[in-house]
Amino acid sequence: MADAINTETKKFLCVSCPVGCALTVSVQGTKVIKAEGNTCKLGLKYAENEAANPLRTFTSTVRVDGASLPVCPVRSRTPLPLAKMFDVTREVAKLHAVAPVKMGQVLINDVCGTGTDIVASRSLG
Ligand code: SF4
Repeated sequence: MADAINTETKKFLCVSCPVGCALTVSVQGTKVIKAEGNTCKLGLKYAENEAANPLRTFTSTVRVDGASLPVCPVRSRTPLPLAKMFDVTREVAKLHAVAPVKMGQVLINDVCGTGTDIVASRSLG
């Protein structure tokens, strides 16, 4: 009975492939106890990750001094915890890069202790 009280129903859109299955997931804490709507095992894995520690690739732009364009697109090298997105956004907003910038260049190392870097998505001379 206590388990039923602590069970939450969540809806996710699986983005593991272009099909985009709509998942309905029963969650207790961070544990998936039932998933519906997935048509393969990847959907269940996606739901488990979303329930336990959702990750997203961060994308934004940073100001670049002395470049041909005023800003450079950036992204996280790997997906980072969704819960850290606001912290990362604030940190990236403070950044002023200096030209030249090379695609893949690390602009912030281990951003906000997430274990991933913010890198330039293009080169700017
Ligand atoms: S559940 Fe499987 S088929 Fe559906 S979107 Fe996810 S990966 Fe694709």
